[in-house]
Amino acid sequence: MLSAYPWDSPADASFADVLRCGARTLLDAILPPRCFLCGKAREINDGALCAACAADLTPLPAARCPRCLIATTHGESCGACQQHPPYFDRAYALFAYDFPVSPLIQAFKYRAVFAPAQSWGTRLAALTNDAATDCVLPIPLHAERLKARGYNQSLELARHIARARGLPLLPDTLHKIRATTPQAGLSLKARQKNLRRAFECRRDLSGKNILLVDDVLTTGTTANEAARALKARGARAVWIAVVARTLREA
Ligand SMILES: [Zn+2]
Ligand SMILES: [Zn+2]
Repeated sequence: MLSAYPWDSPADASFADVLRCGARTLLDAILPPRCFLCGKAREINDGALCAACAADLTPLPAARCPRCLIATTHGESCGACQQHPPYFDRAYALFAYDFPVSPLIQAFKYRAVFAPAQSWGTRLAALTNDAATDCVLPIPLHAERLKARGYNQSLELARHIARARGLPLLPDTLHKIRATTPQAGLSLKARQKNLRRAFECRRDLSGKNILLVDDVLTTGTTANEAARALKARGARAVWIAVVARTLREA
């Protein structure tokens, strides 16, 4: 099977594939690491990409809504956030969700490609450093989804952020209590309905400032419902940290 990217491997890897992978790991230890995107052995920038590929990453708009990160004229809150303020107080993202970060995030999320997570976590820790935070929480997966996937990508990212900032990580605080259909392709209204009361917070968070971690911020519906559950248990402020923010229709 031909892979679209050098790091893309099929889930049903044969023993020969495993051997090849082992040999590659050994080679990686001797040779300089390769860029996840172009596969060239170059000095790795950003823990995953070479400098040339990293230069293609799309930044967020310079003037943006502090709550949801969409472009605004002077960096003021957008109309939607003014009219219906979300339960989260502000959001932090490293990039706009676009090529080439999009296939990296997909690989991180669905194919257990963890290589970029440490770099993303370290950068998000630095970016959120101005927010006086008490603890770090990942957006949870429903138990069935977690069992099928084997890991929660948000927890993997949250681990690095918590470590870099020296903050407690509380993964068993917020729970996804309802299995929901995937959000992709749903309208905003359908997303809101799909996620209503999907999260439950099982810890008293009175007066706490929470850094909530997810991989991507799309419409903000997931972050909003999760933040609602945290605020219902007394959280004072909820900040969302993601790798990338979707800024245009897919
Ligand atoms: Zn490259
Ligand atoms: Zn906004």
